[in-house]
Amino acid sequence: LEDIQAVDPEIAAAITAEFDRQNSHIELIASENWVSPAVMSAMGSILTNKYAEGYPGKRYYGGCECVDVVEELARERAKKLFGCEYVNVQPHSGAQANMAVQFAILKPGDTIMGMNLDHGGHLTHGSPVNFSGTYFHVVPYGVNDEGFIDYDKVREIALECKPKMIIAGASAYARTIDFKKFREIADEVNAVLMVDMAHIAGLVAAGLHPSPIPYADVVTTTTHKTLRGPRGGMILCSDEVNKKYNFNKAIFPGTQGGPLMHVIAAKAVCFEEALKPEFKTYQEQIIKNAQALCKGLQKRDVKIVSGGTDNHLMLVDLTPYDLTGKVVEKLLDSAHITANKNTIPNDPQKPFVTSGIRLGTPAATSRGLKEDDFDQVAEAIAMLIKEGEPAVEKAKAIIKTLTDKYPLQPMH
Ligand code: PLP
Repeated sequence: LEDIQAVDPEIAAAITAEFDRQNSHIELIASENWVSPAVMSAMGSILTNKYAEGYPGKRYYGGCECVDVVEELARERAKKLFGCEYVNVQPHSGAQANMAVQFAILKPGDTIMGMNLDHGGHLTHGSPVNFSGTYFHVVPYGVNDEGFIDYDKVREIALECKPKMIIAGASAYARTIDFKKFREIADEVNAVLMVDMAHIAGLVAAGLHPSPIPYADVVTTTTHKTLRGPRGGMILCSDEVNKKYNFNKAIFPGTQGGPLMHVIAAKAVCFEEALKPEFKTYQEQIIKNAQALCKGLQKRDVKIVSGGTDNHLMLVDLTPYDLTGKVVEKLLDSAHITANKNTIPNDPQKPFVTSGIRLGTPAATSRGLKEDDFDQVAEAIAMLIKEGEPAVEKAKAIIKTLTDKYPLQPMH
């Protein structure tokens, strides 16, 4: 940090404070992670200096021979990791990947089906406040009263509205998604099936969640959640599908300018790490930890939406305690647990208040926590939910034991 300190002490101080915050808190935001030093170094490399509009071998700028190597390696590794023929590693984020895919396939006014935001979907799957909900006619689907995707209902809605595209994938869904069922429904109504596997990409890469690749026409993802890479997005499909829609063109010049070559290098490093056997062990531990956290909460009378989890996250239903997500998010933070409020199915509260909390294990698993540690985390969360403010100091002491046991590597 000395370089930053010398030029900009205010930013250096904010980064140092953020390191201290991350080190002293247990991170349970399901979409976050703690990247390796190699991924971090690639992101902070001199590749940020380079303009490289276009694609390897076909750039609009000179001097691209080295970044071509970087992008080619990223693409080849991603293809190997997920078993597909075509990959675009240039999307700056998950939202950009989704925008490009929709730009390539749809026309304004087309009908799309996506999971309702309140039921766990993402903004880019058709929320009225997002471009997807503004340019397309959206017919959302959701979960049943038990919190599971209601595939019969999805089919019924699809038969009725005849969408051009069905989007599967979610930001807050704790159960295995049946991509084969989505394919069958899409085939029945002649819709394009897009799967956004952003949350579960790491589990898919490790073979611990069924892959959408054999079923979807096109798959999008972020690279920074369970996959543990840099902040960014990616598009994957077969050569045949890409020939039809040309996703390269939809990214550049369709929806983006120059690619972030330092981030693409970090994606390549992330994929190299994900191809190693240790990555599967890490993903297995994410799931074991999610099970331990979930069971730890349930045995302490905390209600979990759908009664459990199959992946890296879970939704706590706070209605039995008459609490809101907004209040509990703050309460957890005061005991050094970071999580986010989240709507639950049929939530009586507004999205900024909510009746739920989303909890995920990827970041704390990267830090080293195991099942017994997550039982302690469950103890701290349960006491905060049941006892409120008076439990803060006791819960904070539990968390301090864990953050001391698993310190984060200092920054350089
Ligand atoms: N898709 C899903 C399912 C997500 O959960 C998210 C982010 O949370 C995104 C897309 C968007 O990713 P980004 O924040 O990189 O735009």
